[in-house]
Amino acid sequence: MVKQILILGAGFGGLEAATSLREKLDNSVKITLIDKNNFFMIGFTKFDVMFGRRSVEEIKSYYKNIAMDGIKFVRDTIEVIDPLNKIIKTSTSDFTYDFLIVTLGADLAPEATPGFIEDGYEFYSLPGAQRLFSVIDDFRSGTILVSIFSKPYKCPPAPYEAAFLLHDFFTNKGIRNRIDIKMLIPAPTPLPIAREVSAEIEKLLEAKNIGLYRQHKVVELNPQRKIAVIENRDPIGYDLFLGVPIHVPPKVVRESPLGENGWIKVNKKNLQTSFENVYAVGDVVNIPVGEFAVPKAGAFAEAAAKVVVEEILNKLKNENNVVKFDGAGTCYMETGSGNIAELDANFFGEPEPRVNLNGPSLEFRENKERFEKDRISKWFKKVD
Ligand SMILES: Cc1cc2nc3c(=O)[nH]c(=O)nc-3n(C[C@H](O)[C@H](O)[C@H](O)COP(=O)(O)OP(=O)(O)OC[C@H]3O[C@@H](n4cnc5c(N)ncnc54)[C@H](O)[C@@H]3O)c2cc1C
Repeated sequence: MVKQILILGAGFGGLEAATSLREKLDNSVKITLIDKNNFFMIGFTKFDVMFGRRSVEEIKSYYKNIAMDGIKFVRDTIEVIDPLNKIIKTSTSDFTYDFLIVTLGADLAPEATPGFIEDGYEFYSLPGAQRLFSVIDDFRSGTILVSIFSKPYKCPPAPYEAAFLLHDFFTNKGIRNRIDIKMLIPAPTPLPIAREVSAEIEKLLEAKNIGLYRQHKVVELNPQRKIAVIENRDPIGYDLFLGVPIHVPPKVVRESPLGENGWIKVNKKNLQTSFENVYAVGDVVNIPVGEFAVPKAGAFAEAAAKVVVEEILNKLKNENNVVKFDGAGTCYMETGSGNIAELDANFFGEPEPRVNLNGPSLEFRENKERFEKDRISKWFKKVD
């Protein structure tokens, strides 16, 4: 009998799962991939748009060009996930499945910080990055605040990367001395799980004259007075405010028995949820690591998807290949003048999680470019 694998969300996790499963299974297994958008983009390419280095079309990969034949792509919004009855409802259809992979990412909630929609800017969505380009390009002098509102948020080094690239951008324009850049973070260090890497990031900020305000949790913006209201501290004024919006699980997940009003909980070794043959990977899950958690980053979503692929293959082929999610992945952080740092992490490392920072150096530029190229060429057909 034909088996159905249904994959919800075509980001890092969904594309990796769909492509790898299709490569390894014959047509007695149907693979359906659902996403509300018609294109994918690698997270860090938003910086290219924000700083005018690449056009929006250059960073988009359209799902109509998915590399593997035999993956049915459905563009629709998922409205109900009902694992009790094995039914997924979209705005137009119902789907059932033998295996379900939920990889719907994290939603941004800019409205959760009063005043932020009115007077703040974000670079975590494509429209946000697009909107920022002309704002930054027109900015001539004053104070820029870059703020992380709360954890968890995607790609923990990304806000620091934004500050480094702002420094670079205004330095190249010859107006850096007229601009004060401050980073306001709720935590005591940039990456609380990694003391040494935090110290490296602090050094880089200092060298670029970017003020770091630790334990400064911005809770509100006052657009009239142009001040950021900070929990238990004096407010700080700004001319331009950039924030990392509060992240929340997608509504359809929160409302399902999988999310139970939060991020999805999974078995950290095989990513299975509390429902048999229902898996979840990527930003939509919370995998605790002591007082921290596996970060929300594409590299981890993809690694987890590879484990789920093996799990499903074992079940379909009655095999017993042992694969375990290892909580490992690499993120890139551009630090200016083309230099790239590689943050190499193993969150399940013993005796404690390990994060190393390699670089920054021009050498790692090639690795970052390859990271993007390899994924796009694996998941999408080449189009001219
Ligand atoms: C500025 C920035 C820089 C980053 N840099 C890096 C980096 O250097 N390295 C790295 O590894 N990661 C980086 N990331 C993080 C990375 O982009 C995400 O962690 C990654 O995309 C998560 O993959 P995912 O598959 O879990 O979710 P996503 O890639 O977010 O995919 C989720 C998909 O689900 C779809 N979806 C959601 N809800 C619905 C619904 N109801 N119906 C239908 N479809 C739905 C969405 O449209 C989306 O396509 C960065 C992110 C940002 C913002």
